[in-house]
Amino acid sequence: MLIILLGPPGAGKGTQAEKITNDHNLAYISTGDILRSAVRENKELGRKARQYMDEGKLVPDDLVVEIVKDRLLNPDCRNGALFDGFPRTVEQAVFLENALPDLDVKIDRVLSVEVEESELIERLTGRRVCSDCGANYHLKFKPPKVRNVCDQCGGDLYQRDDDSLETVKERLEVYKKQTQPLIEFYQKRGLLSPIDGNQEIEDVYKQISSILGEL
Ligand code: ADP
Ligand code: ADP
Ligand code: ZN
Repeated sequence: MLIILLGPPGAGKGTQAEKITNDHNLAYISTGDILRSAVRENKELGRKARQYMDEGKLVPDDLVVEIVKDRLLNPDCRNGALFDGFPRTVEQAVFLENALPDLDVKIDRVLSVEVEESELIERLTGRRVCSDCGANYHLKFKPPKVRNVCDQCGGDLYQRDDDSLETVKERLEVYKKQTQPLIEFYQKRGLLSPIDGNQEIEDVYKQISSILGEL
């Protein structure tokens, strides 16, 4: 099974991905997480990507495509995979479409999580992330049991550099220009399922579960 989570920054893709991958035994492929760990570990990829990320711009397609090619070869993808934050441009979507037949895989569904812009800004500026396991929290909407401590692993929570108000606004613009066209791209292929992301976390997941249950 191959599922794509599409949606603007802050829509709740990472939050829903955690639930989906647990219930459906899918490999989790977040290009954002892979890029952030490459930056942290000061790898060549990280050095090339860092400035784009800090400015809220997209990392060039060729770098991202290399990450995904590599990642899909990992044995944990045998049961299927969930993409979060990839593809983000039409070029990336075309690459994926061309790469899948060789891997004997097809896209089963593209879940397009829709949320109003004012809500996205509040979600992103209040987001906190676990430095050890990557779990997502929110100061107001999903606070951890103990302040600044991850419920799952006890790791410290931090605020991403690109979750500042200024960079958030830039990321939302970049989304509209470069990623939003993918909604039509997948609609034309009959793969798109819109998800109402304005609901409570559990209700969003119910909608997703019922769609995945029909596959
Ligand atoms: P994305 O991966 O799409 O950028 P996240 O899953 O990281 O988004 O969610 C962004 C922020 O909003 C996080 O702080 C998360 O805890 C919070 N959040 C996610 N889903 C909801 C929701 N349905 N209602 C309120 N807050 C949410
Ligand atoms: P969010 O969903 O909260 O916007 P991500 O963690 O998916 O954040 O991405 C963070 C940053 O990593 C993006 O702003 C961009 O610079 C880079 N990035 C992640 N995925 C891609 C991609 N598929 N193509 C280009 N850049 C990407
Ligand atoms: Zn953690």
